[in-house]
Amino acid sequence: MELSILTLCYLVGSVTFIIGLKMLSNPSSARNGNLLAAAGMTIAIIGTIFLYEEDGKKLGNYPWIFGGILIGGIIGTLAAKKVKMTAMPEMVSMFNGMGGACAALISAVEFDHIYQANKTLDFGNMADFIPAGHYLTIIAGAIIGSVSFAGSMIAWGKLSGKIKDMSFSGQHIVNLLVLLLVLVAGVFTYQYNVGFSHILFYTTVALALLYGVFFVMPIGGADMPVVISLLNSFTGVAAACGGFLYNNKVMLTGGILVGAAGTLLTILMCKAMNRSLKNVLIGSFGGSTASGGGAKKDQGAYKEITLSDTAVIMSYAHKVMIVPGYGLAVAQAQHACHELEKLLESKGVEVKYAIHPVAGRMPGHMNVLLAEADVSYDKLLEMEQANDEFATTDVVLVLGANDVVNPAAKTDTASPIYGMPILDVELAKNVIVNKRSMKPGYAGIENDLFFQPKTSMLFGDAKKVLQDLIGEIKNI
Ligand code: NDP
Repeated sequence: MELSILTLCYLVGSVTFIIGLKMLSNPSSARNGNLLAAAGMTIAIIGTIFLYEEDGKKLGNYPWIFGGILIGGIIGTLAAKKVKMTAMPEMVSMFNGMGGACAALISAVEFDHIYQANKTLDFGNMADFIPAGHYLTIIAGAIIGSVSFAGSMIAWGKLSGKIKDMSFSGQHIVNLLVLLLVLVAGVFTYQYNVGFSHILFYTTVALALLYGVFFVMPIGGADMPVVISLLNSFTGVAAACGGFLYNNKVMLTGGILVGAAGTLLTILMCKAMNRSLKNVLIGSFGGSTASGGGAKKDQGAYKEITLSDTAVIMSYAHKVMIVPGYGLAVAQAQHACHELEKLLESKGVEVKYAIHPVAGRMPGHMNVLLAEADVSYDKLLEMEQANDEFATTDVVLVLGANDVVNPAAKTDTASPIYGMPILDVELAKNVIVNKRSMKPGYAGIENDLFFQPKTSMLFGDAKKVLQDLIGEIKNI
């Protein structure tokens, strides 16, 4: 009876997870989708804690279990409440890394059970005590989870500016060698004398951690979004291995869905960046050259525009396209941006948003940001649609975006972002760029757009500039 209730709990957990994931695909239902999936998972976890039985014995260990849940719950809640919107990508990376670490620990615990039960037998090897399929699940969870943990920690450091891109000549060969060593150590763990297998197992884990560091360390510039979604899919696959190990259906479903969603996102991100996955992993796009780009050239002078001139140009335009970028998130100017949009519309101006797939610091960053300010979803144009409309646009207002409007991606073969599709804002009649200075964006390269004849710079913090601009437009 209890088993069937537990199965029901898992079914509820799996179904709510799938529905929740589907609801995440639209900003208007995303919040509820998240809550629904969390509620389903809570049911599955509570069910496991109180109803799961093995050989007629319940789990027990309640102080440990609830102690862990309490500590983790408090840390998670405080971190999520305190985190600034701009630091969300770092937090997502950190949480993803924790998922990978959990999956690797599950494998370590399972391995240890088998090792402890057989270590006194100094004949034979692990292959004599566990079937190959079972071992494969354990070692795959340990390796993939460790790579995901170490890689996510490096990604966290890079996104928060604590770690710089680092590479050395021949790094890809070294990376391949380390990966080879990981696999060899994994095979030896199974094939070598059981007495030494635990040393080999932890060697495999240590090498996998090293591989995770080496693998993410040189990737930088515009390639980080791809790596982040790839690491996400790794964690999903590692969690699915845990589901196989424990024959736990909800963990298996969750892991497979996260793995599949992460893989699809990786493919979409690669498409958006016009790159193959192989190229991202072993290419040099934004790698060691990310901070410098091509040789520095004299780009001439840029021109500035005043707030009142901006207000006039925008008020008398037929069509305005807003290009949001990371700076809009930093300034938390999404509400002011929405207010500007409504004000312009009340004056008969058509206003749309051009969304680049990697604008900001996490996939969908701009969509989430604008949804927070209740910007209507049908005003957001994807890159291809926006590029078709720039030629008929009177004013493009670039708000805290830089790399995603950098024409070097199309023209400068030496640029670390060469080949990345960008928003062709220079096709519009006027381009007004708001940022605080002439400093570069994430890829660390200069932007020719700022020096083009059609472009005018409107310096200042995006929120303050938008608020002042709204005031000026109201006075026209
Ligand atoms: P960028 O990082 O290229 O540029 C952001 C610009 O915003 C900066 O040049 C900065 O200039 C300006 N800015 C910062 N704060 C403010 C402020 N308060 N007010 C006004 N402007 C401000 O951003 P993009 O969105 O154009 O491009 C995203 C980049 O991040 C791409 O290279 C992408 O590959 C990368 N990336 C994306 C991820 C994703 O998943 N989306 C993940 C990881 C990396 P200044 O300092 O002069 O104000």
